[in-house]
Amino acid sequence: MKICEYLKKGKFSISFEFFPPKDEKGKTQLIKTVEELRKYNPLFVSITYGAGGSTRDRTISTVKEIKEKFNLNIMPHLTCIAHTKEEIKEILKIYESLGIENILALRGDIPRDKEGFKKGFCNYAVDLIKLIKREFGNKFCIGVACYPEGHQEAKTLEEDILHLKEKILAGGEFAITQMFFNNEDLYRFKELLEKHNIHIPILAGIMPITNFKQIKKFADLCGATIPLNLAKKLAEVQDKPEEVFKIGVEYATKQCLELLENKAVEGFHFYTLNKSKAVKEILDNLPLSHFR
Ligand code: FAD
Repeated sequence: MKICEYLKKGKFSISFEFFPPKDEKGKTQLIKTVEELRKYNPLFVSITYGAGGSTRDRTISTVKEIKEKFNLNIMPHLTCIAHTKEEIKEILKIYESLGIENILALRGDIPRDKEGFKKGFCNYAVDLIKLIKREFGNKFCIGVACYPEGHQEAKTLEEDILHLKEKILAGGEFAITQMFFNNEDLYRFKELLEKHNIHIPILAGIMPITNFKQIKKFADLCGATIPLNLAKKLAEVQDKPEEVFKIGVEYATKQCLELLENKAVEGFHFYTLNKSKAVKEILDNLPLSHFR
């Protein structure tokens, strides 16, 4: 099912992000997680794509396996930064043959260590969107990334939003946010979308904090801010995993409830890190009548 068709009906969605496992142990863990989360009836699940194509085959085989085993609606992520047009077309043809109808079109991070890095055809995600549209017409519903606090390379949030608008004009139909922990950032971001006449469904990327050191590292890498009082609370218990988990679940629950109350987004996209426990607890805390 095309995600955009569902969202156009004004229905709320929930979805889950997984990454392609590296080995058999990781595969077993992922299958168990999908098994547990499918009962929440996600609109789709997404599978990440390693920077520069490093997980090309693993992403494709994970998409195939989850589709065959669970018949879920799948949205593969695809980054264009290190690929040629031909490589991108080849990957998309595989997805087309698998009956995939949705793609998250991304540029990917420019590697910090540029040694051995071969730049592909694209400078920005908009180039990938244009290629998909040109070669595949409306076969795929295209999702894009957006950044409530602004992307790290952008000089200002507003400049970043103007680039988001280019992605929408090229064919992006909905956006998933980078993880954020302060709803005020999302509200400010939405005001700017309104100001620039951008009217697309926004799915809030929700990251349950279950390991403080790990989240701090992720947040630093992608430029997401952990509010000071939350960081302080987590730092105090960082060596007590159960307490970190409890605070993380409580915080994400509160964040989701407030977003629901304010009708701020069209869906929640959970960054699961291939684990189900925290996401399940958060979802069980939410009024499920909001979902499908
Ligand atoms: P773009 O939209 O191209 O934006 C990149 C930067 O360029 C921004 O600062 C933007 O303002 C600027 N820009 C855009 N157009 C122009 C222009 N015409 N002129 C000047 N500046 C411009 N990474 C992975 O490697 N694999 C994944 O699976 C993955 N999944 C993700 C999922 C989500 C929901 C999100 C939010 C991010 C994900 N990322 C992933 C990270 C993403 O690849 C990086 O954030 C990357 O640096 C930017 O990708 P983008 O598609 O947002 O790029």
